Amino acid sequence: MDFDFSFAEQTLFKDIQDRIKGYIEGKNLEIQDSCKVEDALAILGKTPYLKLGLDTPDGFGGTSLMGAMETLAALSPSLYLSVEMSTRLFGSLVAMWGSDEQKKQWLAPLMKGQFLGAVALSEDALNVDNDPLKTIGVQNGDFLNITGDKTYVVNGPVADRIAVAGLMNGRLALFIIEHGTDGLVAGEPFSTLGYEGVAISRISLNKCRISMDRVIGPFEDFDALDTLRLWENQILLGASLGLMRAAFESARDYAKTHRSGGKPIIAYQEVAFKLSEMLTLLQTSQLFAYRTAWALETSPKEAQSLMWCAKVFCTEAAEKVSGYSLQILAGSGFISGNPSEIAYRCAKYGQIAGTSTEISRVKIGDAALGYR
Ligand SMILES: Cc1cc2nc3c(=O)[nH]c(=O)nc-3n(C[C@H](O)[C@H](O)[C@H](O)COP(=O)(O)OP(=O)(O)OC[C@H]3O[C@@H](n4cnc5c(N)ncnc54)[C@H](O)[C@@H]3O)c2cc1C
Repeated sequence: MDFDFSFAEQTLFKDIQDRIKGYIEGKNLEIQDSCKVEDALAILGKTPYLKLGLDTPDGFGGTSLMGAMETLAALSPSLYLSVEMSTRLFGSLVAMWGSDEQKKQWLAPLMKGQFLGAVALSEDALNVDNDPLKTIGVQNGDFLNITGDKTYVVNGPVADRIAVAGLMNGRLALFIIEHGTDGLVAGEPFSTLGYEGVAISRISLNKCRISMDRVIGPFEDFDALDTLRLWENQILLGASLGLMRAAFESARDYAKTHRSGGKPIIAYQEVAFKLSEMLTLLQTSQLFAYRTAWALETSPKEAQSLMWCAKVFCTEAAEKVSGYSLQILAGSGFISGNPSEIAYRCAKYGQIAGTSTEISRVKIGDAALGYR
């Protein structure tokens, strides 16, 4: 197994780093409603980043995507989440299940960063594993009337198109609803613990009418929901790596330069031990996440349970690493707006969203016993 990134991959990561650093300069994308992604999408559209996983250019693969995700998430968690829920989640479902016409219409502009997507699966009291969706689409000739409520939608108020999971004659389908469609109401953006720059809201659908060519599916079974959760988990893995990297680098640099008691705090063994624990967790998480990304391409059956294991490990590691980082920065870490504080607040989301830590553990146990 070759653990090195190729020259093309390293060039891509540096390109993302340089372009997005330039874009972020002088802005704070981590405060509420600050993350207007259109310009950033256009910048990313000039690199291969938005094509990865959708129409992957030669020489790139699943691990290139994970590396690119880590790079962007380390620079701005809010920008990252907004872009990923659009390009990778919305984009992947179109690439995987859309008709040729739907791909032509949505995929090419998405990969150029020309519109923002969202995906709405979650509903009140819905556990994707064992509760039926309550969002229903009723066909009326060439049209479909959709009614339902979705609890948390990243990009909900600002997305140009939202893929909404619901039932059509009892079968799972994805309804692609354009911003401004009659009957679609996005709530006010929530004030959140982390990822504050991203607009996240409820959406309500009240006899929202779309034409039948905006429907993906209906599917034979509900397996597509598992696949969507798998992709969401992949996004959260990339986020965890980025948060850890930003938190580690911030604490390392601070420990070398900040003086307390007459010496740089790195001289205190307790501080150095925290940094070594952080680096160990970061590197272990990287190995786990990259192995999972590789398995997603080469061995999809194995990838599912590997993903649950990796997600539990990496998202818990992100909370630990960002907590240690904040502890090293101490007073200055507690003041809003530094990478440690931002990472600390964002880390929890990874354990809640996608397949939660608790549900992942149940699934890992089942997989270990051969039930899955
Ligand atoms: C900020 C934010 C943004 C989000 N964005 C999106 C989005 O864009 N699109 C989208 O579709 N969803 C989104 N979600 C939803 C998210 O992915 C989770 O699915 C959702 O938050 C979990 O549902 P819940 O909060 O109702 O928790 P519940 O499902 O009610 O779970 C509550 C607790 O019970 C545990 N639990 C539940 N079921 C089981 C079980 N079977 N076994 C063991 N433990 C269990 C859970 O782990 C958790 O600890 C978002 C959530 C948040 C917070």
